[in-house]
Amino acid sequence: MNIAIVGAGLVGRVIALNLLRSNAEHTITFFEKDSKEGVTAAGFTAAGMLAPYAELETAESVIFELGHRSIELWPALLKEIGLFDGYIQKGTMITAHPQDMGELEHFIGMLQHKVDTTKQIERLDSTAMQRLEPDLYTHPKGFFIPSEGVVDAQRFIAFSVNYFDRYSNVTIREYTPVTKIEPNRVYTQAGVESFDWVFDARGLGAKEHFADLRGVRGEVLWVEANDIDISRPTRLMHPRYKLYVVPRGNGCEGIDLEYCKDCKLSQTSGYKRYIIGATEIESEDTSDISVRSSMELLSALYALHPNFGEARVVNSETNCRPAFRDNLPRIENEAGLTRINGLYRHGYLLAPAIVEKALREGIES
Ligand SMILES: Cc1cc2nc3c(=O)[nH]c(=O)nc-3n(C[C@H](O)[C@H](O)[C@H](O)COP(=O)(O)OP(=O)(O)OC[C@H]3O[C@@H](n4cnc5c(N)ncnc54)[C@H](O)[C@@H]3O)c2cc1C
Repeated sequence: MNIAIVGAGLVGRVIALNLLRSNAEHTITFFEKDSKEGVTAAGFTAAGMLAPYAELETAESVIFELGHRSIELWPALLKEIGLFDGYIQKGTMITAHPQDMGELEHFIGMLQHKVDTTKQIERLDSTAMQRLEPDLYTHPKGFFIPSEGVVDAQRFIAFSVNYFDRYSNVTIREYTPVTKIEPNRVYTQAGVESFDWVFDARGLGAKEHFADLRGVRGEVLWVEANDIDISRPTRLMHPRYKLYVVPRGNGCEGIDLEYCKDCKLSQTSGYKRYIIGATEIESEDTSDISVRSSMELLSALYALHPNFGEARVVNSETNCRPAFRDNLPRIENEAGLTRINGLYRHGYLLAPAIVEKALREGIES
């Protein structure tokens, strides 16, 4: 089939990978308003946490179920593009300052209310905390969710570009904004083109179609540290945000992007890198991180371990999550057109499962 995918962000890439896996001879044309490296997509800013339990507090059970399915699907997708170490499933640690322990207990109690988590959430005392994460010995207690994981979001975006470049039947038209989408039709400034099927994966760029789509600002910081070693995503209870610290190895090995050179992420300094995120602000402002957010993220990091005090801030990112009023994802299917949007703060958690569902109900039916 001759297929158009509008938007080469997270969802667009996952759609293309699925289509090529089902038939490597599809002709696929991406239309992307920015560069094919995808560095302006929300999918590039994300930490890539796959945390269905931790999200249960505020999310519907559909997020939990789709999230579990995505956790099953990600390893094969990442292997397909040659990113063999891009998925790490070492579970999530959850801890809190001593003064916020009550809030942590309340949070865990709420999760236990929603699902049978007796087997899924382990209560840790300081010895058990130390066994899993020796550097977190100062925390007297916490919780551990073994089945959660994390995708290396930035390398997923980079490796998928290299993968698509190897297919002569896949074209990414960079700097080509689409003005309108209809079944079987894509409109650009150059005119209208026809396809057997069109996918609308524009994220926040699909406002011309979805009147209730909004952006939710999120900010993250990247730090480098050489005297603290945390091996798995760690969540720290915070009154305002769902704060996490995600280890990212010591570089973006395999990435050869100008962008990464600029932000130093391609240099392997030997130091360990961590992403600290993410704020959640009802605004479509994508300007640089604010002083207030920086202070909140960094003070949470320092509270997690004082050795982060000597870490170096090497990068900051701001982007907007595409979300509907109910913060749930939406699939719209009609003959010749599929739209997927509203993945909000769960893009990595949902994309493989939601794309699988959308293809089954649309182009494959
Ligand atoms: C700070 C932050 C942290 C996050 N952390 C996580 C996390 O830990 N775990 C998780 O599961 N999710 C996380 N997310 C959410 C996740 O990033 C999003 O849900 C996901 O990226 C949405 O995917 P998308 O493909 O719909 O949009 P995007 O990834 O934004 O892709 C949309 C693409 O469409 C292109 N486009 C837009 N308009 C047009 C047009 N008119 N013509 C052509 N192209 C167009 C854009 O340039 C972009 O490349 C985070 C998001 C943010 C901002």
